[in-house]
Amino acid sequence: MTDDFEARGKRKKLISELRKKGIGDEEVLRAMDAVPRHVFMDNAFLNHAYVDKAFPISSGQTISQPYTVAVQTSLLEVKRRSRILEVGTGSGYQAAILAEMGAKVYTIERYRELFLKAQKTLASLGYSVDSFFGDGYAGKPQYGPYDGIIITAAIKEVPEELLKQLKTGGRLVAPVGDSSSQRMTLVRRTGEDSYEYSSHGRYLFVPMLPGIVKE
Ligand code: SAH
Repeated sequence: MTDDFEARGKRKKLISELRKKGIGDEEVLRAMDAVPRHVFMDNAFLNHAYVDKAFPISSGQTISQPYTVAVQTSLLEVKRRSRILEVGTGSGYQAAILAEMGAKVYTIERYRELFLKAQKTLASLGYSVDSFFGDGYAGKPQYGPYDGIIITAAIKEVPEELLKQLKTGGRLVAPVGDSSSQRMTLVRRTGEDSYEYSSHGRYLFVPMLPGIVKE
């Protein structure tokens, strides 16, 4: 599925809605205006792509709500050529936003089916993203350290292994809490052994789970 006039018009409306909801990072808004979200969703759901809601994708997972993508991406403070690790590729939409902003993106997904589909979608849109099938709890130390790490599934606490893969001065953004509600948490690595935490509103994500799912 390609982009068209109708989808672009709907996207413009969504961007102005995000602005009204308080998103002010122009680079994030530009990227969200540029990436055709409907291409990351199944054909039947074209009409749902440009409302500000999360939506089911395969394997019982969801593509995050646009507002949530905007908040997480803004907190990361992505710059051109930033090295970013994403845990929870899902549809690949969040990875595309980061790539559109000029980041070097590494993304991990534990469902083989989603990994394969997202990899295809990203390639079809011309985004060069390094996707991996695996368990995000281990991160990807061989490509780190990272300027930013974004976790797009709910966690009880930020895994030590991922904190270690941040550069000093790097930022990790993750929804932290139990299954009923999470706080969007920003962790800044301020030194070899020092991290500063701040909290940025309540969200609801699918859980981050250990291990991989092969079919
Ligand atoms: N960022 C996605 C939305 C992700 S939904 C998008 O833009 O569409 C959360 C995803 O995290 C799901 O696809 C889920 O399978 C994945 N996930 C959960 N636990 C994981 C883990 N340990 N490692 C990698 N991916 C994981």
